[in-house]
Amino acid sequence: MRVGILGGTFNPIHYGHLRSAEEVRKALLLDEIRFVPSALPPHKSQDEVASAADRLEMVRIALEDYPAYVCDPVEVERGGLSYTLDTWEELTRGASDDNNMFFIIGADAFLELGTWHKPKEVLNAVDFAVTLRGNQHSSAYLEALLRVIQEIEPGYCMGKCLKEAEFTDKKRVIKFVPITEVDISATRIRQHIKESYSIRHLLPREVELFIIRRRLYGHSGTVC
Ligand code: ATP
Repeated sequence: MRVGILGGTFNPIHYGHLRSAEEVRKALLLDEIRFVPSALPPHKSQDEVASAADRLEMVRIALEDYPAYVCDPVEVERGGLSYTLDTWEELTRGASDDNNMFFIIGADAFLELGTWHKPKEVLNAVDFAVTLRGNQHSSAYLEALLRVIQEIEPGYCMGKCLKEAEFTDKKRVIKFVPITEVDISATRIRQHIKESYSIRHLLPREVELFIIRRRLYGHSGTVC
C-alpha cells in the first residue's frame, strides 16, 4: 500500500488541494491519500481560522465521492500544536515499510522548513513529495530548494533528472512532482467571503453550502 499524507490548515479545503492530491496520486502511483487537517496551525495567525471541527467536517464533505481519499483526524484528536514529525511517527507506527509513505507539500510551504519544529529530524525521518507549480520546476528553483534542504541536512544530494533528492545513508527521498497550476488559495476564498463576492467553483459546492449554513468566515448566510 502506497500512501500520501496531505497536511494543511484546510481553512477551507478547495480545488487547489484536491487537484494537487490527484496529480500526486497518479505521478507516484499512490493507493490512498490521507488528508490531515491541523489542530492549531503553528505558522498561521489564529484570526480567521475556523474551528478544527468545522475544518475537519469540510474535508470530510469534500472527500465523500473519492474512495482513494481519506480524512484523517489524527492531528485534531491529538490537539495542541500540529508538528509534522509527531504526525509522521503516529501514521507510520506499525507500518512494515515507511518508504511507501510520502508527506505531500507545496514547494512554497516546504521552503519554510527551516522554521519548523526539529527540521533536521524531519528530513531524517520523512519522505516528502514536493509539488511544483508554474516555473517552480526550473533547474534554478530546484537548486534553491536543494540549498535549503542541504543547509539543514547536508546528506541530501540531487538525483539524476532532477526528479528527486536522495539521502542514501538514511534511505530517505524527496520527490519533486510538477503539477498543474490551480490559482486558488484559502486566503482568497476567505477574502471573497469578507467582500460578499462569489466563491462558486473554487471549492466543492457541498463545502460552500456548509460555509453558508455555518456562516463561517463572516458569511452572511445567504445562498446564491
Ligand atoms: P492559506 O491561503 O490560508 O494559507 P492554502 O490555500 O495555502 O491556505 P493550506 O491548507 O495552507 O492551504 O495548504 C495545505 C497544502 O496544500 C500546502 O502544502 C500547500 O502548499 C498546498 N496548496 C495550497 N493551495 C494549493 C493550490 N492551489 N495548488 C496546489 N497546492 C496547494
